[in-house]
Amino acid sequence: MNFFKKIFLISLTLIIFVVSSACQQANDAKREVISSTEFVLNTAATISLYDSDDYNLITESFKICRDYENLLSKTIEDSEIGRINTRKTNEVSTDTAELLELSLEFAEQSNGAFDITIGSITDLWDFTSNEKHIPDQELINVAKQYVDYRTIKIADQKILFENENTKLDLGAIAKGFIADQVKEYLVEQGVTSAIINLGGNVQCIGRKDQEKGFRVGIQKPFDSGSIVEIELNDEFSSVVTSGVYQRYFEKENQIYHHIIDPKTGYPTNNHLLSVTIISKDSSSGDALSTACLVLGLEKGMKLIDEKDDLYAIFIDDDFNIYYSEGLQETLITSE
Ligand code: ADP
Ligand code: MG
Repeated sequence: MNFFKKIFLISLTLIIFVVSSACQQANDAKREVISSTEFVLNTAATISLYDSDDYNLITESFKICRDYENLLSKTIEDSEIGRINTRKTNEVSTDTAELLELSLEFAEQSNGAFDITIGSITDLWDFTSNEKHIPDQELINVAKQYVDYRTIKIADQKILFENENTKLDLGAIAKGFIADQVKEYLVEQGVTSAIINLGGNVQCIGRKDQEKGFRVGIQKPFDSGSIVEIELNDEFSSVVTSGVYQRYFEKENQIYHHIIDPKTGYPTNNHLLSVTIISKDSSSGDALSTACLVLGLEKGMKLIDEKDDLYAIFIDDDFNIYYSEGLQETLITSE
């Protein structure tokens, strides 16, 4: 039995869990926490406010998530990205333009490991329906020709494609970007202590209380427990994990997951099970966690160590944990 088969069999849960959640909140009698969970962005999202009793702020935060989903989702035909992909428009709104520009920077930095023009390939893979199948090699070869971030240009609120068949997929950065927008809104409204958790894409505001920052557990891949815990602060308020165990199907003793190497058109297969990025903003965390999972341990760690404003945790298929420079000394609370 190969390794992936074994870990598939012992898999218990697919969702990263946040340590600072229900039971801790219940124990925290002095502080009233208000919290709500909704299904949005194709995942369960929870927003918790620690210094406010205004539920309208949570309702409005979820509305922001939905509005962005309706703008950015490639599976919503009438979204801006949907209409761009079907060439019904070439105009991009200010928000979309900002996100596209940012995405192109991360594509450049990761040498195309993270590439938002991956849409023609991700269209071939379906990890949500019951009919799981591996796409034909022929189709993958054709789709691969349309993937190259260097062939799109954004200018004057318009997008230009060199290749008519290129399709955008913002799935690897959108949740992080949206978590940042929700944070901006809540901070504007005067919130100073909160957790925005968009399906494991966690962005915090401030601290849990005067003594402690928010603590977040990093999920042990294919398990329900956490493998390491970190304490966040204002400079490192976001935690995002990309994992091969988050969406996948199994066929012939092999798992096929949703993070694709743009160079092969197939799910990454480099012994990494997950990459977690700890950063100030969630958009970089989201883009770079995907990028590093594709780049692999050596190249991914190099990319992170070149930056001094973020940290990373890589976990391989022997459950070895690799920390980027400085992380263990600063943010780790327990192992
Ligand atoms: P999650 O969506 O589980 O948080 P990621 O942030 O890693 O995980 O994003 C994975 C999604 O991004 C996939 O479902 C797909 O839509 C898209 N994607 C897959 N591979 C890549 C890639 N190499 N570059 C950019 N986007 C990708
Ligand atoms: Mg991502």
